[in-house]
Amino acid sequence: MLNIVLFGPPGSGKGTQAAKLVSKYNLVHLSTGDIFRANIKGETELGKLAKNYLDKGQLVPDEVTIGILESEAAKHVDAGGFIFDGFPRTITQAEALDKYLASRNSSITMMLSLDVPEEELRKRLLLRGKDSGRPDDQNPEIIQNRIDIYHRDTAPAKGFYTNQKKYFPINGVGDIEAIFESLCKQINSAQTNS
Ligand code: AMP
Repeated sequence: MLNIVLFGPPGSGKGTQAAKLVSKYNLVHLSTGDIFRANIKGETELGKLAKNYLDKGQLVPDEVTIGILESEAAKHVDAGGFIFDGFPRTITQAEALDKYLASRNSSITMMLSLDVPEEELRKRLLLRGKDSGRPDDQNPEIIQNRIDIYHRDTAPAKGFYTNQKKYFPINGVGDIEAIFESLCKQINSAQTNS
C-alpha cells in the first residue's frame, strides 16, 4: 500500500497536488478540510461544530478530527492506498494515524512536505479567497492565524516523521507540473526501494 501524508502550510498547494497524485497513483484522497466544508454546507451536527473553528482559522479538536478521519478511511476497505491531505495537523493526530493504519496492517509510506515562504502563502490565499468563496481565505487576520497555528501546532509533525525516516521536503514554489514531477520522483524512488 502507498500511504502518503501530503503536508505543508495553508496555501502550499496540497489540494492541487493531491488531486493530480490521486489520479496518477490510483489512491483515495482524504482531506479533512473538504470533509468539514461538506458538512458545513450540509448543515450537519459536525458541520455546525466545525464551523466555529474553520471561521476563526483554528484547528478542530483532535478527538473530533481523528474520529472523522478514521470513519472516512474505514469506508475504503479495498483502497490501494491513501493520500492524507491536511491530516495529521498535530502530533496527536500523527500518532493516531499510525495506530489506525497499524490496525489495518498498514503504515505511512512517506510524508511529502511542500515548502513555500510565508509571503507567498499570504498572497496565494488572498487570491484563492476571491474565487473559492472560503471565508477563511478572505481575511488577512484569519490567514495569519492559520499560518501561526501551522508553525506552532502542525510543523512539529515533521519531526515525528523525520524520526521514522519518512520526511521528504519538496520545493512548493514554481510551476504546478514541475512540483508534481518532484513529488512523483520521490514517490517512485520510495517504491523502488521498498
Ligand atoms: P484545509 O482545507 O486543509 O486548509 O482546512 C481548513 C480548516 O479545516 C482548517 O483551518 C481547520 O479549521 C480545519 N481542519 C482541517 N484539517 C484539520 C485537522 N487535521 N485538524 C484540525 N482541524 C482541521
